[in-house]
Amino acid sequence: MKQCIFCMNSKEDSEFNREHIILEALGGKGDEDICLNVCTSCNSSLGTRVDASLLNQNITKYMRYIFQIKGKNRIPNPFKGVELTYADTPFIGELKVNKEGKISGFRAKHKIYKSKGNILIVGPRKGFPAYVNSQLKQIGFAQLTEAEIWKKRIDLGEAKVPHIEYIKIPEEMKEQYLTYAFPTMLKMAYEYCFVTLGENYLNDSSAIRIRDFLMRFDYKKDVEYFAPTDASLEWKDEQERAVSLKIYVNNNKVFVTIVLWGMVTVTICMSETGQNYKEGLNSILTVEI
Ligand SMILES: [Zn+2]
Repeated sequence: MKQCIFCMNSKEDSEFNREHIILEALGGKGDEDICLNVCTSCNSSLGTRVDASLLNQNITKYMRYIFQIKGKNRIPNPFKGVELTYADTPFIGELKVNKEGKISGFRAKHKIYKSKGNILIVGPRKGFPAYVNSQLKQIGFAQLTEAEIWKKRIDLGEAKVPHIEYIKIPEEMKEQYLTYAFPTMLKMAYEYCFVTLGENYLNDSSAIRIRDFLMRFDYKKDVEYFAPTDASLEWKDEQERAVSLKIYVNNNKVFVTIVLWGMVTVTICMSETGQNYKEGLNSILTVEI
């Protein structure tokens, strides 16, 4: 029998599994990254209520795409529902990403665009001439022969798949990131505090508040929430292939700093009574991804 650090119930050993402190979807792997005191039912519930909030963000998906982090399932497509311009033509579409995490096509939105006196009709490959003429008719333009349509046609097949080298993350997306990332970071930091500070940490007043918050939080329901502790977030431009957690004491408080891909640094206050802990302070957990 052992106790789960979230629901605090004592359960049979078989009701626990190996929880990665750094989520597998963020590149977590290896034995040093494991917390053995999370029951399977809390593990799965925290995954859908908490982790999903961070993992569903386009920034997270984009970084997983850049570093090709498969996690349990596959590399996510960060380009779903993202509008983009193709070559010099300002139309919108969606990039497809295959199971191997490679861009495999461009799905243009079917639409008529008018720019600089030209008309651009984006339509389906199948039955394209008929589609073009039906669109021309609707806007009061003369019909074209099939030969004319084929001559003017631009094929958006695989050969014309755009190459993505760099994407600029909009500032407002960065500003929102802590809102989405915070609960998952808090969960990772809580597990790491337990693993490094030991069972005493479970009775810490901050730990109790954090645990209560995590057991209630549901990103699909809680539009706004009151964080149970202080946290801050910083962005840097450079990227590195690593995720790390660091625990340390400053002004008698215990902090955990989490760095994702060298870019995102979240610092969370995990205890107001750092003097109670002698073991495990100033340790770092890092995974190379
Ligand atoms: Zn549990």
